[in-house]
Amino acid sequence: DGAFDDALLKGLNPQQREAVEYRGQSLLIVAGAGSGKTSVLTRRIAGLLQSREAWPSQILAITFTNKAAAEMRERVHHIVGNQAEGMWISTFHSACVRILRREAEHFGFTKSFTIYDSADSRALLKRILKELDADTYGFTVSSASGKISKLKNELQDVESYARGANFNDPAEVMFLEIFRRYTQALSRANAFDFDDLIGQTVYLFRAFPVVAAHYRRRFRHILVDEYQDTNHAQYSLIHELTRPVTPDIADEVESAGGLVKTERDAMGAIPGASLTVVGDSDQSIYAFRGADIRNIVEFERDFPNSKVILLEQNYRSTQNILDAANAVISNNFDRKDKKLFTDIGEGHKIIGFTGYSGHDEAQFIADEITKMHDEGIDYKDIAVFYRTNAQTRALEEIFIRSALPYRVLGGTKFYERAEIKDAMAYLIAVANPADPLALRRIMNVPKRGIGPATETALQVYADAHEMSLREAVRHAGELGLGPKVTGEILEFGSILDEVMAKVYPPEGSEARPAPVADVLTALLEKTKFIESLRASRDPQDEARAENVEELVAVTKEFQKNNPDGTLLDFLTEVSLVAAADDLDDSSGTVSLMTLHTAKGLEYEAVFLTGVEEDLLPHRMSAGEPGGPAEERRLFYVGITRARKRLFISLAMTRAAYGNVNVAMPSRYLQEIPSDLIEWRQSPGMANSRGGTEPRALNARRDGSSWGSSLREAAALPPGKPREKTQWANMVTNVVRDNSALELSAGDRIRHTDFGDGRVTAVTGEGAKRVAEVQFDTAGRKRLLIKIAPIEKV
Ligand code: ATP
Ligand code: MG
Repeated sequence: DGAFDDALLKGLNPQQREAVEYRGQSLLIVAGAGSGKTSVLTRRIAGLLQSREAWPSQILAITFTNKAAAEMRERVHHIVGNQAEGMWISTFHSACVRILRREAEHFGFTKSFTIYDSADSRALLKRILKELDADTYGFTVSSASGKISKLKNELQDVESYARGANFNDPAEVMFLEIFRRYTQALSRANAFDFDDLIGQTVYLFRAFPVVAAHYRRRFRHILVDEYQDTNHAQYSLIHELTRPVTPDIADEVESAGGLVKTERDAMGAIPGASLTVVGDSDQSIYAFRGADIRNIVEFERDFPNSKVILLEQNYRSTQNILDAANAVISNNFDRKDKKLFTDIGEGHKIIGFTGYSGHDEAQFIADEITKMHDEGIDYKDIAVFYRTNAQTRALEEIFIRSALPYRVLGGTKFYERAEIKDAMAYLIAVANPADPLALRRIMNVPKRGIGPATETALQVYADAHEMSLREAVRHAGELGLGPKVTGEILEFGSILDEVMAKVYPPEGSEARPAPVADVLTALLEKTKFIESLRASRDPQDEARAENVEELVAVTKEFQKNNPDGTLLDFLTEVSLVAAADDLDDSSGTVSLMTLHTAKGLEYEAVFLTGVEEDLLPHRMSAGEPGGPAEERRLFYVGITRARKRLFISLAMTRAAYGNVNVAMPSRYLQEIPSDLIEWRQSPGMANSRGGTEPRALNARRDGSSWGSSLREAAALPPGKPREKTQWANMVTNVVRDNSALELSAGDRIRHTDFGDGRVTAVTGEGAKRVAEVQFDTAGRKRLLIKIAPIEKV
């Protein structure tokens, strides 16, 4: 409406422009990868602010990760400046935690609730399964937690599930009991698990219309990125937030002193907020967490009169990359064909690489990264993707050896370390005394002689007297335990009580709640936490002590940035950062992450690794309906992250869980037109055919034939045992099989890459025999004898 700054619309194509300017109740933008969906969403927000159509506080933008939220905030900030501050740009989970912290008291929780991450939930479930002997019914922690999570994502609770349950089926009755106990334990602990954060917020809005009205009036513009991956609970949350406030509820709000007159329409209702969602059904990769593509398909039905805008130009990738992506995804049926085009030009060919092991593959990646870095590409513009976290080990080993700076996004992180979880559990125990999980975690940390039997005795006492575990600790003297352990428990309890009094000063007192850093320091000092780590003889404990000190530094930092921040604020922040992804910037480091984490991001150069059957598609997807199609979307997501350079790699043998298995090329490889990709292979592998020709020549010749035989193998219909044998034969033809090679310490050997060396030890048996070799020039290596390109000399 003219109030837009030129800069806001500059460079946008007509469809993008329309999407930024459209002003209606609901807008759906569907488009392929890299077409500017997120950019458009960002500019819409900036536009709403710039034209003064909305206050920052009236905007709620939902992203899929904290990282994406931070990026969007920064981009909005770039366009409109400080206004970006007060705005809610967050993940579904963060938004819900903020709402629940304010409102949990409406339904039997307190605002000091704990958030159970998946490890906490699993620990709780493990206890319950054991109590119930549930494994005799075939339940495992994974299966139970998966099923509960799925139900919660569908907004089912114990009651609704029981209504449809088959009580003649003992396994189902057992599951119902697991679900019931789990739910009960959470509410007793004043805790929410991750799925609850969304589900309970929906419940809150449905059960308390006046509370819902507050948020409906507040958020007038709701924008959702990556809409294709919302599950039913998230979808319902959006729906609740965008509903009108009915006249009777508006009356109620008014009689409670709310100034709603100007907001009401002729009928007395307060109209629903405007909703913008952007998504790409080809990038739906969270069906296993209940994401539902139908949300896109049904958007028009659920939000009548919504406007749909399609974007067709890709601004991210070269033509070769885009062609590969389009070719792959076109193999999924039941999808709308999209016409994505780019002006960027053909660009480099995709490089395919086959190594003989995961290490070999990692070495290739490290070498290519070094080359690109020499050509002037910054490490931070390079990313390596994999399907499973286990694949990082080989990559990290080689990266460390090659002195490449890297970081792993979303892997085992600071907050997942045992000592950090212990220290955090102290904070949680003080913040939320109802939570037995935190208490159990620290009862014997540092060691104070409170073993499992004592813990059980406390729990039994607590149950018998209908009190919390924490309360039982105060009654330790009545349990009839030995005097020493009784003393320890009471001491432990009084430390918690003392520190808790600092966090929640008694009513009427002048004292303000102590800052988080003081609380943590007091706990650590009183329990001699760091001291006992330092005194330990385990060399790892020194590093652990340092980590805990790092946590103290984190709390100080938090206090500096949030002078009014409470312990709860701190716990909230940590639980969300820890659970999703980290926020620190990636300057100067190569990023390693799973394909799932990669969604929405883009990099100059991308490595897609382990493109093998059983990894991609993942073994677990085989039995799932729609599994292979979802895995193909994951591959598509990976390809479309690349701007200029794309590398696709696989190995012929893959180590997993202590075994080395023969790997097969992924069925998706054959879907990439052969003229888009140039195949290379490991130099060591080429020579192992046993020829005497110079390696370079040999490699080149084998390179081409390998490429075509790989294609052949990949072109076979997947999943048949015949194929596996054929591939296995092919592999053993190329990679020598040294199973029969007799080796012992002292033998001299020759390796195709490392030259001559002396065996210093042989360990393991059969296919897992490993030789440790001191090479004359290449240093010390461990080789898997079966496949290493070595011979005795
Ligand atoms: P994905 O599906 O992967 O999430 P997306 O549709 O959200 O992708 P964006 O990330 O918004 O796409 O945009 C992809 C890239 O294209 C970004 O680098 C963005 O800055 C750029 N871009 C978007 N629109 C334009 C435009 N009109 N002109 C130039 N560059 C653009
Ligand atoms: Mg995006």
